[in-house]
Amino acid sequence: MLRFRVTLKSVCACCRRMCFRAEEVFHRYFQLHRIKVVRLVHPFSAIFLLCLIGFLFVYELCYVLPEITDPHGIGHKLCWCLGIYTVLNILGNWCHGFMSNTSVEGLPPDRQHPVTGEAHLWHYCSTCQKVVPPRSWHCRLCNVCILKRDHHCTFFANCVGHNNQRYFLAFLFHLSFGSGQALVYNGILNWKNKAFLVSDPLLLIYRDRTQDTDFNWKYTIANLFKLNLFLFVVPVGMFIFQMIMVHRNSTCYEILDRSYDVGWRRNMDMVLGKRRFWIFFSPTIASPLPTDGTRWCQKQIV
Ligand SMILES: [Zn+2]
Ligand SMILES: [Zn+2]
Repeated sequence: MLRFRVTLKSVCACCRRMCFRAEEVFHRYFQLHRIKVVRLVHPFSAIFLLCLIGFLFVYELCYVLPEITDPHGIGHKLCWCLGIYTVLNILGNWCHGFMSNTSVEGLPPDRQHPVTGEAHLWHYCSTCQKVVPPRSWHCRLCNVCILKRDHHCTFFANCVGHNNQRYFLAFLFHLSFGSGQALVYNGILNWKNKAFLVSDPLLLIYRDRTQDTDFNWKYTIANLFKLNLFLFVVPVGMFIFQMIMVHRNSTCYEILDRSYDVGWRRNMDMVLGKRRFWIFFSPTIASPLPTDGTRWCQKQIV
């Protein structure tokens, strides 16, 4: 809250009062209805994402692929294998991200208190009523302090933080990769059927639909291409944004804070762990992190 208030210094007093009021109403609402919000938003997000992945998987592999490739050819089989591998990775990283405990409570009991000489780096959480490690922040939805908190992800039904950010990155990577595959298949299908011509809204208005018996069909696949394009751009944008954060060792919570930037290689290691980019191949590849989330090197200021 303090950080938020500092950024409002340049705003006029009236707007600042309104922002404080909105912030207080928001916080009070979450305090009162946290359980209801969590019970409603998390399952809804999970069902929505599962339906979207399931629909794209079935549509692309069972319908689009047989239309653009030989169903008995090696290319068709390879596309099936690639599709299954991608979906397994999405679901695997999703499950690992959901099950990871990245809260301060998950630390061994002896690491939940600062050792001698570290106490000045820890800060007090008034909700948990205890001191917590640097870069840990309280999540109002999880109702616990999270180690190197990045943000709360409703799809993960969990906070993205120190212990599960690698799964979130791989989850976004495979969502982008999967929707990228679907975009290529849909692009070829649209091109073969000359459906791009009916995807332009202006052509829809002026076109004489009675001249083309396949108009409704082309219209459907052209719009599915547009939906696919949107589903490609969103995870790619999120993945690039997350990689920028990882590259500079920032978080969404402290977006402008570069004080923990110790060089891009070490910054990457802090999130990806010892095996670095191998984590993108499978969520089951172990990649130990260099810190338990309580100790952070700060950039040396000369
Ligand atoms: Zn807390
Ligand atoms: Zn949370």
